[in-house]
Amino acid sequence: MRKCVYCNADLPDDRSMEICDRCGVGVWGQKMWLAIKKTTDTARDNGDLSLYKEQEVTERRAA
Ligand SMILES: [Zn+2]
Repeated sequence: MRKCVYCNADLPDDRSMEICDRCGVGVWGQKMWLAIKKTTDTARDNGDLSLYKEQEVTERRAA
């Protein structure tokens, strides 16, 4: 089982980012979070998720 990097909640295995909906909405807002999930799912399908993982780490450092 995968875990949310923010709150350690269990995540569904098909989630491309290791962030739960609750934290995603809390950090980015609902509209942005839905856009991010869609973007990362597309990136995963294209085999390009590493780019988004780097971006995620950068944002967490800045926060
Ligand atoms: Zn969470």
